[in-house]
Amino acid sequence: MKRFLELSEELLQKCVKCGLCKSVCPTYPYIEEESGFARGRLALAQMVGQGELPLTAEVAREWDQCAMCRRCEWICPNGVEYKEIIAHTRDLQRRELGQGMVKGMGLVALGFLQSSPGRKVVKLAGKLMERLPVKEIKTPFPTGAVKFMPKPTAEAFGLRGKVFKAEQEKGRLLFFTGCMIDAFYGKTGESVIKLMNRAGYTVVVPEDIKCCGAPHYYSGNMPAFERLKEHNLKEMEKHQFDAVVVACPTCGGALQEDYKLDKPVYDFAQIVFESSLQFKGSGKRLTFHVPCHSYGAMKVSDKVFYQLMERVEGDQVKKAQKDKSCCGFAGLFSITNPKVSDQIQKEKIEDLKKTEAQVVLTTCPGCVLNLRDGVKKHATGQEVMHLADYLADSLC
Ligand code: SF4
Ligand code: SF4
Repeated sequence: MKRFLELSEELLQKCVKCGLCKSVCPTYPYIEEESGFARGRLALAQMVGQGELPLTAEVAREWDQCAMCRRCEWICPNGVEYKEIIAHTRDLQRRELGQGMVKGMGLVALGFLQSSPGRKVVKLAGKLMERLPVKEIKTPFPTGAVKFMPKPTAEAFGLRGKVFKAEQEKGRLLFFTGCMIDAFYGKTGESVIKLMNRAGYTVVVPEDIKCCGAPHYYSGNMPAFERLKEHNLKEMEKHQFDAVVVACPTCGGALQEDYKLDKPVYDFAQIVFESSLQFKGSGKRLTFHVPCHSYGAMKVSDKVFYQLMERVEGDQVKKAQKDKSCCGFAGLFSITNPKVSDQIQKEKIEDLKKTEAQVVLTTCPGCVLNLRDGVKKHATGQEVMHLADYLADSLC
């Protein structure tokens, strides 16, 4: 039989169809069909992969409605490698049917963002928007999605090519900043450096790192991912470091799983957790949103985040009931699937509202973007911050 997917039979047949993944899939409640969660999406991949079902736009649409949050992988008792299978089916889809205009443009935009002219454009836009009295701008997309998007800053990419020395150096960390911190959330980058320096680590930020390639991998654009990986590995080789630090779990997951580095990759929170840093708060009530990729890809225990928040003297922590549910962002998914994404976001925001927390913390810049969009749309009055910023501001 002709095979269409370059994946082993063993990998494709690992799903025992138990259906446990249905209970955690964020899309299933809004796409109540077998193809609305992993089991059905995998069955389609198996049939197309083995040549039993033709690859049509309708079949491809079923895979496109997956947020790639990987909660199914996290709960699967049989160790199904969902990410690998769906990324390869999307690769086949790209080769046979094309990438799709919105997804293709999104990936091109990410490439442009990290290019030399792209960086200049972002900085210029940041300068022009400096005086706008808002942090986010309501942005409509051709798919019908409308999002409050962060403004670029005039200081975008400002950390690049610098070394930030610790006073008494215990080790050297290479900070893989990631596209969103580079372009929109430069303060979060500064916060990570402040925390690492205070914990005793010198931080190196390479000049020419590009996107980690995770959006390309998850979208099935393997050639683009391989090009980015090769470029980034060469750039990283120019520096001496003991470990890589990230403040975006999607970047961290890609570096850990797909770069095959010979150095460890840590979430910044893991390093702060191991340090003796102390924090003082101002009596606020805090809650936390656990990013899907921090446990699904990087395998960071959420105890790290909660115990760090407990270390902020004077603040209170209230755990949200669905703290590990997806926020609905998932990068391009929120633009290509606005209806489902908005429903997932609404459920998340309602859960966060119930905690009556004044500040919602998280560790993923993408989740920061989507939660800020959500609290604004649903007028909860809550502040959303990256945990790095909250901790850096609360350092004793
Ligand atoms: S992917 Fe895993 S959890 Fe889902 S049906 Fe298959 S074996 Fe069960
Ligand atoms: S990756 Fe997330 S959205 Fe996709 S099938 Fe798994 S749980 Fe559902």
